[in-house]
Amino acid sequence: MKVLKTKAEMSAVAESWRIENLDVGLVPTMGFLHEGHLSLIRIARQHADKVVVSIFVNPTQFAPGEDFAAYPRDEARDLAMCEAEGADVVFLPSPEEMYAPDASVALTENRLAKTMCGLTRPTHFQGVLTVVNKLFNITRADSAVFGMKDAQQLAVIRRMVRDLDMPIAIVPGPIVREPDGLAMSSRNTYLSADERRHALCLRRSLDLAEAMWRRGDSAADAVLGAMREQIAPTPGAVIDYIVAVDADSLEPVETLRPNTLVALAVKIGRTRLIDNTILNKKTP
Ligand code: AMP
Repeated sequence: MKVLKTKAEMSAVAESWRIENLDVGLVPTMGFLHEGHLSLIRIARQHADKVVVSIFVNPTQFAPGEDFAAYPRDEARDLAMCEAEGADVVFLPSPEEMYAPDASVALTENRLAKTMCGLTRPTHFQGVLTVVNKLFNITRADSAVFGMKDAQQLAVIRRMVRDLDMPIAIVPGPIVREPDGLAMSSRNTYLSADERRHALCLRRSLDLAEAMWRRGDSAADAVLGAMREQIAPTPGAVIDYIVAVDADSLEPVETLRPNTLVALAVKIGRTRLIDNTILNKKTP
């Protein structure tokens, strides 16, 4: 496994693969890897001859006051995990390598990025789209795998690829959970033991939504209301949003139907967690 820290080295390797007619699959991450990330590496392998994992805590997707500096990092452990998983290259640039000091171009999505997480993080998806686009260009990837854990991110990236005719296949990866149901996230490391228990309210409220859907309760208001009630008694839990939207357009739905994304963001103490489920469509 090669560990490359410059764009020039990454592009040269990508170009050599291209000459050999090898398909490149990309797994973009911010590191502090867990089983969710590793599942994406395995999926990438099914779609490509060569797999690149990028590890880059992207400063432009964090707003001032968010957790950029505190975001957990463990390069040595991440590299060992990528190696064990059979990644061909880990691309590990510094912020200075990625961005010119006077960088002045960014990519904006004007509809899907405005809702849900975009309401409290208005600059987040611009940072995501810009860096993802840069990673696509640097690695010349033919496919890229994104987790359904970040369902809005996946929808916004698919929209970018569609609207800009980018020659890349976007492959979704199912949410990987801890045995007790908490969606894996690098940010789970922020949780105290008590908060870790309280964080289970996210999965429980999604379970409730799925149960109501299965028994025929299809009024979105009623289901979202029941989810709120289920979370309300949890100590330290503050709901940012709970929505039922079409999984592709992110438009709110009044009546639940297949491909409805039920998604929520909840602060547990100081840690903001997100989770979701797609009704009747567990796997892509
Ligand atoms: P991150 O390092 O958190 O930016 O995530 C990198 C990629 O891993 C994104 O495509 C995420 O959606 C995906 N990912 C993060 N957590 C999970 C999870 N629990 N299951 C599946 N994919 C995940």
